[in-house]
Amino acid sequence: MYPVICYGVGCGQAARYKVAATWSDGQTCELKTYAIACESCIVAQWIDAKRRRLGCRLIPGETLEEPCVYELVRGSRDRTLVRREDLESAAPA
Ligand SMILES: [Zn+2]
Repeated sequence: MYPVICYGVGCGQAARYKVAATWSDGQTCELKTYAIACESCIVAQWIDAKRRRLGCRLIPGETLEEPCVYELVRGSRDRTLVRREDLESAAPA
């Protein structure tokens, strides 16, 4: 398997975390991935994801939760993701 590379510009490190938000149209529900990142870039990527979420236009009936930081576990299903609120709280408000 090839390594998952961090989205950080010029980074090139193996990614360890992902930023994702739960999206729903009222019938189906899915985890929308904003970014994957290494340990040093995850906070910046999370802040960027929150900013991009604010610019996301939803049609009536659609909902999009705040992006959250999860551990990136190779081969696991989204529902087994481990959330890392400690990394989110490390970000400036
Ligand atoms: Zn990185």
